Amino acid sequence: MTYYFDHNATTPLSAAVLTCVSRVLRECYGNPSSIHSAGQAARQEVELARGHVACLLNAHPSEIVFTSGGTESDNLAVLGAVRLGGAAGKHVVTTAIEHPAVLGACAQVVREGAEVTYLEVGGAGVVNPDAVQRALRPSTMLISVMHANNETGAIQPVAHISEIARTAGVLFHSDGVQAVGRLAANVQALGVDLYSLSAHKLNAPKGAGALFVRKGVKLQALQFGGRHERERRAGTENVPGIAALGCTADQLQQHRAVESQRLAGLRDRLESSILRRVPGVRTNSAGAQRLANTSSLQFDGIQGEALVIALDLAGFAVSSGAACSSGAVEPSHVLLAMGLTRTEARASIRFSLGQGNDEIQVDALADAVVASVARLRKLSPVYEHA
Ligand code: PLP
Repeated sequence: MTYYFDHNATTPLSAAVLTCVSRVLRECYGNPSSIHSAGQAARQEVELARGHVACLLNAHPSEIVFTSGGTESDNLAVLGAVRLGGAAGKHVVTTAIEHPAVLGACAQVVREGAEVTYLEVGGAGVVNPDAVQRALRPSTMLISVMHANNETGAIQPVAHISEIARTAGVLFHSDGVQAVGRLAANVQALGVDLYSLSAHKLNAPKGAGALFVRKGVKLQALQFGGRHERERRAGTENVPGIAALGCTADQLQQHRAVESQRLAGLRDRLESSILRRVPGVRTNSAGAQRLANTSSLQFDGIQGEALVIALDLAGFAVSSGAACSSGAVEPSHVLLAMGLTRTEARASIRFSLGQGNDEIQVDALADAVVASVARLRKLSPVYEHA
């Protein structure tokens, strides 16, 4: 049996979501665009889910566009905003620690003639709002800064940046994929114009997500062929995935605050146990406000991948660097942007907690980390033993 500590990569389905998805797959097979009752039953599921997602974000249902996940939401926000009226000559401000979904979309708008400024972050992995202010140009039409980082959990000053964006008359997108469900993601308080989320980070299946698009904000669609989602996202809706997202949003609305507190307690228990028992460990983003469930630790003399494999063999799923770049030998771009050396970045491991974890699992993980690190260091030709 594996104890799963990689919830920032993806999450298992909750029991409520599994029940919802099975029911919708069985009973709501109609096409939501069909006018007969089978179609209307499916439409009802989609609109119910839209209401739940809107409620979680404190948005209006008409401001929610369903997508295939976080990557599409980020692409729709960046490409959709910049391409409207042509990308050439436009300027975008983003950060060096964004998820590849935003960085890749930015690289694409550069190929289409736009310019992008990638802001550096401090050692704690947090962007300085003054740097955002200084980067603005008359041609800036979009700022994209994530709400919370997937690797370190560092929470970004989104509400402050949105004030800067509003004053400058610039659109503001935030990637909320890791923040939703873990922080209050109130789009009114945050002041964002565009906000991305993904179902599979929230105990719902892969293949569904949403983009909040503030009323009045215009986007150029990425795909064509139908008038779905108010002409912002063509294609027959993923009804079971959307229903699952709605179900999980409803659950989060009720339980998020209590669950975040529980996870913060478990995360602190894990960190303090490891820091107390293993010499040569540092917490990445220690100086930042962090997501309650995330711990990124740097182990002197360790190759992250070797520790991931050792822990996997011991029955624990954790991650080195972002899940999306796992398998690649390059160290995490996020940790490098924070000023870590390549060796320090490669010596980092991310533990991300979620619904199924408890104190017994956390204590077992800490024991396994202590044992695995000691064994790997003993084998290391370069590690200096005290
Ligand atoms: N943005 C962030 C911050 C993420 O962590 C992820 C996934 O790891 C994504 C976007 C992409 O989301 P999806 O896997 O739903 O495409």
